[in-house]
Amino acid sequence: MLFGRGKKNPIKIANKGVEKWVYTTCGYCSTGCSIEVGVNDEGKPVSTRGVGSADVNRGKLCVKGIFEHEIFDAKGRGEEPLVRDRITEDYRETTWDEALDKAGSEIQRIQEKYGRDSFAIVSTGQLLTEEFYTLGKLSRAVIGTNNYDGNTTLCMASAVSGYKRSFGSDGPPGCYEDFEQTDCLIAFGSNLPEQHPIIYWRMREAREKRNFPLIVVDPRVTMLAQNADMHLAITPGTDVVLLNALMHVMLDEGLEDRDYINEHTNGIEAVEKVVADYDPVSASKICGIDEDTIRNVARLYAKADAAMSIWTMGINQSTHGSDGVVGINNLNLMTGNIGKPGGTSLSITGQCNAMGTREWSSCSGLPGYRTLENPAEREEIAKFWGIDPEFLPKRRGLTETDIFPAIETGQIKGLWLVATNPMTSMPNTVRIRKTLEKLECLIVQDSYRDVETTQYAHVFFPAATWAEKEGVFTNTERRVNIVRQVTEPHANSRSDLWIFNQMAKRFPQGAKVKFPEKPSDVFDEMAYLSRGRLVDISGMNHELIEQKRGIQWPYRADDVEAQTQGDPRLYEKGGFQHADGKAKLIPLPYIENNEVPDNDFPLWLNSGRVVEHFHTRTKTGKVGNCNKFSPTPYMEINPDAAEELGIEHMSYVRVVSRRGDAVVLAQLTQRVPRNMVFIPFHYHDCVNRLTKGLLDPHSRQPAFKQGAVRIEHVNQEEAARLNVEMREF
Ligand code: SF4
Repeated sequence: MLFGRGKKNPIKIANKGVEKWVYTTCGYCSTGCSIEVGVNDEGKPVSTRGVGSADVNRGKLCVKGIFEHEIFDAKGRGEEPLVRDRITEDYRETTWDEALDKAGSEIQRIQEKYGRDSFAIVSTGQLLTEEFYTLGKLSRAVIGTNNYDGNTTLCMASAVSGYKRSFGSDGPPGCYEDFEQTDCLIAFGSNLPEQHPIIYWRMREAREKRNFPLIVVDPRVTMLAQNADMHLAITPGTDVVLLNALMHVMLDEGLEDRDYINEHTNGIEAVEKVVADYDPVSASKICGIDEDTIRNVARLYAKADAAMSIWTMGINQSTHGSDGVVGINNLNLMTGNIGKPGGTSLSITGQCNAMGTREWSSCSGLPGYRTLENPAEREEIAKFWGIDPEFLPKRRGLTETDIFPAIETGQIKGLWLVATNPMTSMPNTVRIRKTLEKLECLIVQDSYRDVETTQYAHVFFPAATWAEKEGVFTNTERRVNIVRQVTEPHANSRSDLWIFNQMAKRFPQGAKVKFPEKPSDVFDEMAYLSRGRLVDISGMNHELIEQKRGIQWPYRADDVEAQTQGDPRLYEKGGFQHADGKAKLIPLPYIENNEVPDNDFPLWLNSGRVVEHFHTRTKTGKVGNCNKFSPTPYMEINPDAAEELGIEHMSYVRVVSRRGDAVVLAQLTQRVPRNMVFIPFHYHDCVNRLTKGLLDPHSRQPAFKQGAVRIEHVNQEEAARLNVEMREF
């Protein structure tokens, strides 16, 4: 029987009463999708849609972006400033003045008693760039602590470190358009469909048109691996061995680009010497990839006209994270694949504005990729801010991962956390809990009152979220895009920019430094400071950025007249940021230094993301249309391993490491090998109770992805009851 078209029920799009659409940029991941939020006649955000004219997403959004208008009124938002003298007491609601006075006087009391660096500040990758710049000015020029960092140390520090070592500066050299030009793509530890769905869509669309080979290096059969031509199921933590072996084959068979190497790099001799030891036969015994596959991949990559590499946390969150990034850069420098269409080393960043903090927050130095170690740059910035250059430290202080141990040893007595939730995101959270209890003063500034870390705070600042404010984000491909204010800040919360500006007034040094109040004025200050630098944004302003739906840096004043969209690539003609203008090829001898499975803890523990959740679920845990897909902490386990252990599908188990334990639902799947389990990292009191987090020596980023665990049985009823309580987020 045939059904005529007219007999079908037509799809109806709900009329949500949208009165106007406001342009903004998604506040979740670093893809940087342009979004319009629909607002009804009462000014309430009621809908979200992708922007068709924006090059990044071309009208598309993922499940998180589609429901982003629901985060404004989510439960658990901070409403009023809160204070208390001891963490055993209840909080008391107070005025902004009293909360800011208390925070300001506590910071000064601690600094006077124990020294300026005894008070630390840790921020995030989710503020607006103008806010990052202002927090940097406040931390460096007014409060004057050198123990100031961002939680990007947990996700991007290895990429930053690797870029600096290879190219002389941070700054991803490629762009999404490279997918449309490449002839071969290797994805190292990057599960694009779940982590960055719209970048995946761009890559997939390009591949459908030109069918270039996709090689995925990942210990797990991720969604991306399922779509790959070749899946290299590598032994965790051994990427450097594979990279050395690939270079060994290229050099052995004369597949390297000698002209590019001679013209644009230094150090080939030292690399040749080290990779000589990594013949495919020897390397395969360490990294678990057979010798023929190593040879085939090396030939495929080196012979492609243009080849590119992307990576995410599988490389960065390792004790060899920085070396892994340098290894990828070596591979691309050796084959002449930097700064050319389709040839690049592109780190896919995590948080929506991880790039903005890297560029402008002064966490690892001074604004605009300046360093504290460079006297001329210290002088330039001190003069611009109106302070004595001697007030600035002469080298970078502690990273987030070193700040917590410094609290344990008593070196740090006070901490200000801005939009970060270490009680869920740091490794070994059992230890972090004890660490936070030692602080004389903890200030938590967050959009959500119910983040776990507020349990240990003395002052809570309720902050406005995402499009309750105005400013810019930079995405993975260096595109600066604007977040326009869609609605007023929730209850009595205030923008982070306002909070930083008010805090500056509590310090004597604050009177010397100018703090513009309007985000567009702050942007203009950054644009001025960027002139002539790699991260040049001097041709941009808020209006132009919105008009062009985002602009890639560098974008100089001349570019405005030339009507460009910014430079899509860095280093097209070389011009690396090391003093001689050349990139460095760096030898990478591999030293095994991870926790590995043994008799007591026989399984690898791997962790990562799922598409419906973002980071510590502070936002997506409250959006029903996201949370419903995975409300419960779970673990992927191979069916053969499960059978051996007597574990049934969808039963509760206890996962135990040397640090702690976590109860999760077992999900039987062939996605993980027999000797590994995988747990999404989003849940509180879950995978990071187990992780050890040994640190990369260069970047200080923790190795979240290499640990050892065992599985134990639990009482199902008890576990289910605990789990229901956990779901009541
Ligand atoms: Fe937002 Fe990232 Fe999804 Fe785009 S891909 S809608 S930026 S979460």
